[in-house]
Amino acid sequence: LYLEQSLHEGQSVSLTREQAHYLFGVMRLTVGEEILVFEGKNGEFRAEIVETGKRGGVLTCVEQTRPLQLPPDLWLLFAPIKKARTDFIVEKAAEMGAARICPVQTEFTNAERIRRDRLQAHAVEAAEQCGGTFVPEVAELARLDRVLADWPAERRLMFCDEALVGAREALAGPSGPWAILIGPEGGFSDTERRRLHDMEQAVAVSLGPRILRADTAAVAALTLWQSSLGD
Ligand code: SAM
Repeated sequence: LYLEQSLHEGQSVSLTREQAHYLFGVMRLTVGEEILVFEGKNGEFRAEIVETGKRGGVLTCVEQTRPLQLPPDLWLLFAPIKKARTDFIVEKAAEMGAARICPVQTEFTNAERIRRDRLQAHAVEAAEQCGGTFVPEVAELARLDRVLADWPAERRLMFCDEALVGAREALAGPSGPWAILIGPEGGFSDTERRRLHDMEQAVAVSLGPRILRADTAAVAALTLWQSSLGD
């Protein structure tokens, strides 16, 4: 269970109504039983249930079981598409160990807004289900041109598009933090392509000869990166 507060041994934690519903209603846990909880600073703890209720409950952190395990410093930038497919991208990015998930509005992006809280909740669920101790932050929707204007000099950018460069070649070179960029269903505009090709940190990478849907491309690109540069 992911908790938003920082934890330490011996600490009491009050549960929200939703957490109580999940633990006592759905999982049928009761006083004296133990669960694993984690947060974004001190990692994972074994916690004992000391009070149950319909609207809340109390846990006590017994001992730390794992420190926080940070994933490699990899960002995923993607243009939001239909709701269910955007949810899928966020869920899979969190599972695949992206450190930050950034929805970006490109010229051919149809989505005008996102529900950041809802996407963040998907990232939490994905981290919980895959037993991670880290939850990536989902950023607010930002315009791609603005994101690129402030792009950090040291961060390399693998943008997935038609390209002659295969991933192995593209990912070779100096080490450093990376980001992956996936376009919308309509692809990148010519202006965006020119802009990306002009960036020293950016490299266009092909994911093979088939045109993948954006959500498939996100998973393929994350897999490729993790298998080459993940630890
Ligand atoms: N007609 C679009 C175009 O011209 O780019 C196709 C876009 S595709 C459905 C959505 C996004 O997935 C693309 O912008 C790209 O980032 C990624 N993508 C899909 N297939 C790819 C491939 N074979 N190589 C690299 N990127 C790919």
